[in-house]
Amino acid sequence: MTERLSPPEAGAMGALALRIGSERVAGEGSLPLHDRHTGAHLGDVACAGAAQVDAAVTAARHALESSKLSPQDRYRILTGAAEWIERHRTRILTAIVAESGFTVTDATGEVNRCIQTLTLSAEEAKRLTGEMVPIEAAPGQTHRMGYTIRVPVGVVAAITPFNSPLNTVAHKVAPALAGGNTVVLKPASYTPWTAALLCDALEEAGLPAGHLNLVLGSGGETGQALVEHHGVSFFAFTGSTEVGRTIRREAGLRRTSLELGSISGTIVCEDADLEDAADKCFRAGFRKAGQVCTSVQRLYVHEEVLERFTELLVGAVKEAKVGDPYDASTVVGPMISEGEAERATAWVADAVGAGAELLAGGSRRGALMEPTLLTGVDPAMRVMCEEIFAPVISIVPYASFDAAIDSLNDTPYGLAAGVFTKDLARAIEASHRLHVGGVHINQTSSSRVNLMPYGGAKDSGTGREGPHYAVREMTEERLVTMTWGKT
Ligand code: NAP
Repeated sequence: MTERLSPPEAGAMGALALRIGSERVAGEGSLPLHDRHTGAHLGDVACAGAAQVDAAVTAARHALESSKLSPQDRYRILTGAAEWIERHRTRILTAIVAESGFTVTDATGEVNRCIQTLTLSAEEAKRLTGEMVPIEAAPGQTHRMGYTIRVPVGVVAAITPFNSPLNTVAHKVAPALAGGNTVVLKPASYTPWTAALLCDALEEAGLPAGHLNLVLGSGGETGQALVEHHGVSFFAFTGSTEVGRTIRREAGLRRTSLELGSISGTIVCEDADLEDAADKCFRAGFRKAGQVCTSVQRLYVHEEVLERFTELLVGAVKEAKVGDPYDASTVVGPMISEGEAERATAWVADAVGAGAELLAGGSRRGALMEPTLLTGVDPAMRVMCEEIFAPVISIVPYASFDAAIDSLNDTPYGLAAGVFTKDLARAIEASHRLHVGGVHINQTSSSRVNLMPYGGAKDSGTGREGPHYAVREMTEERLVTMTWGKT
């Protein structure tokens, strides 16, 4: 990467239209989009009303019935989209940094991972298969055979958050298309430009009209209209637990995949490689300015290694370059809004007021919050018992591994956890006792590879992402039996 990515010119995005069937459509209203760092007006985003959401679902339903794609077509289109993203890398990086404020490093991670997600989904399109069912093995069932096939579930509504504006969108859209479904996408209001570029990639790669429809607008209006639409067969949602509950309520008996909120934790045992653990915890706590569902929010450190580990972590935080996200050497960029930075800073100030010790950071300039380390925290403080979604780690010393596991589990959420240890028995015990969707030994809670089954327990959601798993969730298993002769 060059030393600095050039910010887009004012007006670079232009007017961002809805995509309904083969049409680019103006919204019932529109909202301006600004560069999070420079403040430049990038363009205006169309906002879909309920009638336009209805038209998008109808277009998706029509495409589902009128222009089916073979597995080979799906493979070719998804692979072509991955190639398009690679060819337009700089343009996409620029859009991500501009609308989300993520650093160049974080935006590069989004692009690299999106390419993998599209490629993995393309491969799944070719592998999707059922299985033979040995019906003849049952008493009196001779001359019968059975097998299963996987058929598309129908129209998938993909509703996505701002904090993974490209790769999470790909994690919904690409497996849905791989499974032969059609899609209506409603991305976060903060990050519509990046989502539209992913639609461009798929269109340019040959996806026919109506297979991917884009509705833009606020969650409360456009999103809610989509959630209430009975033409949707499956909801693929990533976002807050609160909105996840609304979707679950409206979905009724329809299927959903809900990737929701979290208060993620990581344990550093006394036998851990401390340099490795501190480096990984630093990155997992502060990438994307801490706005990651698996960010290390609560960090349990054995008291025997507390001093050395804290020294390493504080050292890393003090060295980290904070500020301009377009500067490729910046490590922590701005949060998504000044209001969010203000909220998180207030939670930190409340904790300090109630007796916590500030080891680093704690203040902000506009939306830019310093990477912050706390210790001396209490489980009742908001920094400990609510999802902070900001660059803030609370270090909690522990004496017994049992107690550390219990504390980490003590939250309504259960997305992921990390444990740094060289002790195999302890690693296995942790994997059985931590009530989360993923346990990562010698990695943090934030360890994710696109091909993993990824999802939560408890209030962190249901269903599993990762193309191999998602494509199965987004298809129905149908049994076929055949009888010949007399049974
Ligand atoms: P959010 O406020 O829940 O928004 C997510 C998406 O839902 C956005 O597109 C939003 O639209 C839309 N939405 C809001 N209200 C809606 C409604 N009533 N009906 C339909 N759609 C609606 O979440 P966020 O602030 O963007 O993201 C942060 C949250 O996501 C955190 O809690 C984080 O932990 C969670 N998250 C979880 C995972 C995971 O894998 N488990 C991954 C990433 C993020 P607008 O943008 O227009 O409001």
